[in-house]
Amino acid sequence: MSFSASIITLFPELFPGPLGTSVIGRGMADGLWSLSTTQLRDFATDRHRTVDDTPSGGGAGMVLKPDILARAIDAVSPEGDVRPRLLMSPRGVPLRQARVRELAAGPGAVIVCGRFEGIDQRVIEARGLEEVSIGDYVLAGGEVAAMVLLEAVVRLIPGVLGAAESHADESFENGLLEYPQFTRPQVFEGREIPAVLTSGDHGKVEKWRRAESETLTRTRRPDLLK
Ligand code: SAM
Repeated sequence: MSFSASIITLFPELFPGPLGTSVIGRGMADGLWSLSTTQLRDFATDRHRTVDDTPSGGGAGMVLKPDILARAIDAVSPEGDVRPRLLMSPRGVPLRQARVRELAAGPGAVIVCGRFEGIDQRVIEARGLEEVSIGDYVLAGGEVAAMVLLEAVVRLIPGVLGAAESHADESFENGLLEYPQFTRPQVFEGREIPAVLTSGDHGKVEKWRRAESETLTRTRRPDLLK
């Protein structure tokens, strides 16, 4: 069974966007994962296809209505669907590689993209939505955030990356940032590739990379070492 992503959004035309190109798009064409989008507005019941209303208690902006979103979720993810239900949200748990790995090993995800001021709290609770943030900044909507999450997840699905594009050494995979990378030419604007990398001594290369990873992590992201 391949990884199945279902997106609930007011802007389905934004998909697949970048998810349709390069290795991620090839993975979809090869059937390693699939993507479907659902227009939230299709679940509105009034003539104007209204999906939002003013915030209870007052304040700026609009809030996505719980009944309409619940109907959309129930249609996309009926009882028995074991996929996690994610809500892209700046208030959510920050997305980390460990969660990305878990999702990639699972059956897929139902992803709700917020807009406006956000979503009525009751539907978050009633449908068990897991709030996920892609960083401490506020986007205009959840669509780009959903693409970020899916791109990170799909590239870990077995077969999506070729052997030549392995991720074992990458940043966050072993709790460290990746070491610096170099390629030819040997000299670029007076800067040489570190001699150890062209020495042919794999043991020394390994040691150098590990030391560089540790130094980079200590200086840039000491929080990862804790
Ligand atoms: N009023 C909300 C708040 O302060 O938390 C922000 C709403 S934002 C303008 C609209 C939608 O964009 C959110 O419902 C969410 O789906 C998405 N979004 C914005 N920033 C995000 C982030 N950092 N991570 C994930 N989703 C985000």
